[in-house]
Amino acid sequence: MKNTLKIGIKILVLLLLIYFAASRFLPSVIDKKYNHIIEKPPYTVSLKARQLNDSLDFIADLHCDALLWNRDLLKEHDFGAVDIPRMIKANEALQAFTIVTKVPKGINFDKNTDETDAVMLPYILEGRPLKSWFNLTQRAISQCDDLNKFAAKSKGTFYVIKSKSGLQKYLKKRQQNKHITAGFLGIEGMHALSGKLSNIDVLYNAGVRMMSPVHFFDNKLGSSAHGVLHGGLSEFGKKVIKKMQAKNMILDVAHSSEKMLDDILAISTKPILSSHTGVKGIYNNGRNLSDAHLIGIANTGGIVGIAFFDKAIKKADAFHIAQSIKYTVDLIGVEHVALGSDFDGAITAPFDVTGLPLIIDELLKLGFTPQQIGLVMGGNVKRFLLENLP
Ligand SMILES: [Zn+2]
Repeated sequence: MKNTLKIGIKILVLLLLIYFAASRFLPSVIDKKYNHIIEKPPYTVSLKARQLNDSLDFIADLHCDALLWNRDLLKEHDFGAVDIPRMIKANEALQAFTIVTKVPKGINFDKNTDETDAVMLPYILEGRPLKSWFNLTQRAISQCDDLNKFAAKSKGTFYVIKSKSGLQKYLKKRQQNKHITAGFLGIEGMHALSGKLSNIDVLYNAGVRMMSPVHFFDNKLGSSAHGVLHGGLSEFGKKVIKKMQAKNMILDVAHSSEKMLDDILAISTKPILSSHTGVKGIYNNGRNLSDAHLIGIANTGGIVGIAFFDKAIKKADAFHIAQSIKYTVDLIGVEHVALGSDFDGAITAPFDVTGLPLIIDELLKLGFTPQQIGLVMGGNVKRFLLENLP
């Protein structure tokens, strides 16, 4: 009996050791497996594009899933697309950090259900907080906590923007010192509410300022473009949007089904955005926005972030990003278009965040003026947040 107990304890200790070892090395293994960069830095761009990039006061990107991978964003990495040192190198003033809480196994752009959960096992194996293993709201909060901790440990080089006044203060600081950067928190898919309206307040208090109703599967709010039902907004979804907009949280329509987008445009009382999308006029597929929806978003006073992956723009390179930007600018006006990379969203990206000047080069070739480029590269996001944050 005594021997069995001893062996049992030994096995338990061994398992714990394996668990702690795995939790240390697994995040970077998983991160590298899912996030590919076609061309690694440094990047060759024209002098004109480089100078324009470095002269811009506000470069911003509306979408990046870097928090999903448990990456230490305070350190510079040679994998993945985003971390704070590389954001500073890129002269990026603001990056949206969008939280993914659940994706189905075998994720695809056509048809997914909510029956499987590919995020749970990595969350457990990586040693994320116990309460976040089986609870989507807690998963979101754990990623918010991570970003807030990075800011606290950054020695004043990284800020989390949560309000108009916070953004104004940060802009003043950045006029003095361009070697600082910032993030703001979004959520992909409001299954992160765990079905409770009151969790909007919980997530708001954790720092979340932007949310999209759906991600890759239909949920209690309504239908995803990649779900099964292709329906519209539910009664619960309407209540959520009303409450969010009353709190000045920004509504992101990325991943919504077409019917869902119609319903949202019909009831929204505030400017809305799509944080990462392609456009049907360039690449006609179920993921991308129609002209009518692009116009609908612009008519709310909203903005559209152009994504960098092949399913959005046909081919993942700076030329194709610029083509989608130009199409959208021609349709809805330059003041409604922004960057929405989807960096670190388990995509193959053409470059990392330090490659953003490659887009400027392509926009210059297309005849964009420096002033128009400034708006697309982040000026529009700055204006939108100054007008719409709490
Ligand atoms: Zn997404």
